Formats: sequence, C-alpha cells, structure tokens
Amino acid sequence: MELDEALQDAYQYGCQFTDQGVVADYIPELAKEDPHRVGAAAIGPDDRLFTMGDAEYKFSAQSIAKIMIYLGVLENYDLSYVRKFIGVTPSSKPFNSILELELSHHKVPVNPFINAGAIVATSLLMEKYRSNTFEMIRKRAREIIGNDHLDYSHSLYLSESNSAFANRALTYMLLNDGIIQSDVNVEDLLSAYFRACSLMVNSIDLARLGAVLAHEGKGPDGKQLIRKEHAATIRTVMATCGTYDYAGDFALLVGIPAKSGVGGGFVASTKNGYGFGVYCPGLDSHGNSYVGVRILQKLSQNLNLSIY
Ligand code: GLN
Repeated sequence: MELDEALQDAYQYGCQFTDQGVVADYIPELAKEDPHRVGAAAIGPDDRLFTMGDAEYKFSAQSIAKIMIYLGVLENYDLSYVRKFIGVTPSSKPFNSILELELSHHKVPVNPFINAGAIVATSLLMEKYRSNTFEMIRKRAREIIGNDHLDYSHSLYLSESNSAFANRALTYMLLNDGIIQSDVNVEDLLSAYFRACSLMVNSIDLARLGAVLAHEGKGPDGKQLIRKEHAATIRTVMATCGTYDYAGDFALLVGIPAKSGVGGGFVASTKNGYGFGVYCPGLDSHGNSYVGVRILQKLSQNLNLSIY
C-alpha cells in the first residue's frame, strides 16, 4: 500500500475508537482536551509528508519529551555511567509507580521513560547545565524537529507543577537513596522536567522526530542531527519501554519503536525510514493514546512494518 492510502485507512480505523479512551485529569489542564480530536502525520523513507485530521493541533509532549531528556544525557555521559543511575529494563508498573522504584535493583529507576528515570536523567543534565537545563532540552528539540518556534506552555507547566505530588514523592525517594545528588534543588529540577513535559508539539513535529530517529539521526537535508548510535539506543528503549507496562502488548499489536505521552501524543520510528506522529487525548489504562495505538497498529499492518 502507498503511504498516503495506508495513513488514510489507519486514521479512519482509529477514529472509530475515540469513545474508548479517557482524557488524563491528574494534570488539570489536560482534562480540557476534546477526546474526539484526532491528528496523524506520516513521513516516508523519501521524506514525503502526509497528514490526516487535526495534524497541526498542538498538545503537550509530556512523556515524549523524555526522549529529548535521555538524548541529552547520552550526549553528555557514557552509557555505562548512565546505566548506574537509569536502567534499560521494561517497567512492570504504571509510569509513576512508587512501588516499581522501591522494588527496583539498588533503587535505580528501571528505564528513562518512566517518571523516576526521566527525573534522574534531568538531574544528570542539571549537573552540567544548571539553571539552563530546560533551555538546553528545548534547543535540542528545536534543532531535531526543525521548528524554531517550539516552546512550552506556561499554563500547562503550572498546572502540572501545582498537582505533581507523585513526582515530588518519587524525587524525594531518589534523593533519599542517593540516586540524585543531594545538592540538587528539587524544585529547580522538577521545574526543568515539567517545562520539558509542557513543550507544545503537533503530529507533524512528532512525525519529524520519528523520521530523524528512523534515518539514523539524519535530518531531511542529510545533516546528522543525532549521532547514529544514540538514535539506535533511543529506538531500542522506545521499543522496550516506550509504552510502559503495555510494551509487550504494543510489540504484538504494532511492533514499531514508539513513545507515548499522557497529552495524547505518540511518536513512532521504524528502522526503514518511516516517522509517524499521532494524537488523540483519550488514554488507555497505561497512559497511552487509545486511538493512537490503533492508528499505529493499522499503519504497521498496512505497510508491513513490524520489526518482529
Ligand atoms: N508530565 C507527566 C508526568 O510526569 C508525563 C507522564 C506521561 O506522559 N506518561 O506525570
């Protein structure tokens, strides 16, 4: 099937499920989103872009920003050093689980895509970039996505910051267990993390991010935006950990490296040069866009993209 046809078919298939997901409300601003809004964008190996629905509608990246945060860490530290503080094991509990952290080996977060792992990753960046940590994450996001206007939403940031009791609990546990350096200011650290999560993107931005990862880190003009080995590491962790404790089901259904966010976004990146960005804010019980999973499932089937 051609990419435009495959996307149209997947979009129409996914739109049947807009009543199935539940919009996140633990960040009050997110609860305002319309569960019937669907956007999808696909970039093929030849770099042609196709879109369906509200592909230009902006939403907060949320956990998709964890890709940028982890990339920043990979670009500043050796992977062997990073592994002492953040694992690469799939999580078995929800993405903000205190129990998962409590039970993990040496209390090291199992991977960089659960909240505890991303908070540790942000703390490693703070050691290098101090008060400029968020600015560094935003700069890299702008360069990779190729959108100089990419920025965070202050209202979403405040909404999360004022309600982030679970993330504060995780952060104090990480401090208590020495996984985060004791001289880090918790509120500065969380401020950088929440701003990153509040970066506003649309489905096209996410398809571009997916395409750069799919092209071994190269942008549309062939410029190396991410080192090849970092793109491979990120795709691998997306495949194993990108949808949290749903990753096994997602591998069976879709079989493409992908990362979701509770804002309703999804980025997916194939080995053979496709990048997908999908949006619909209704979530499954694991925090992944319900419609997003179905659109990606259909795209994978239509284009025979499963890596397994
Ligand atoms: N900002 C959100 C949080 O920390 C991100 C979670 C997500 O998208 N799964 O809870």
